Amino acid sequence: MKNKGYAVRRSAGSKMKESGKSVDEIVRELKEGNAPRNDYREQSLQIHGLICAKCAREFDHKDRHLLTVHHKDGNHKNNPQDGSNWENLCVYCHEDEHSRGLLGDYFSEGK
Ligand SMILES: [Zn+2]
Ligand SMILES: [Zn+2]
Repeated sequence: MKNKGYAVRRSAGSKMKESGKSVDEIVRELKEGNAPRNDYREQSLQIHGLICAKCAREFDHKDRHLLTVHHKDGNHKNNPQDGSNWENLCVYCHEDEHSRGLLGDYFSEGK
């Protein structure tokens, strides 16, 4: 079925002319776009600054490796370019964040 659809579109050619891109080109772009997987750390540091979102400790370029990127929804594959799923946390706060988790909040309510 796939081959049929491809052949028909190719012979008609109308849709391809609109975008001006061949299937091969689109596939190549998708591959290149997914390539830099560790890039989000630098992006998040640029967007949110060298500061821990929890304890507000500031970092400079010497100790910026202590600042890590936390994913708010816990999904490391969810990396929107506007940084809305990222939070810059120092390693201490980051560890704290994950050791508590949802259950931590649940239990503290009963105190
Ligand atoms: Zn912190
Ligand atoms: Zn995290």
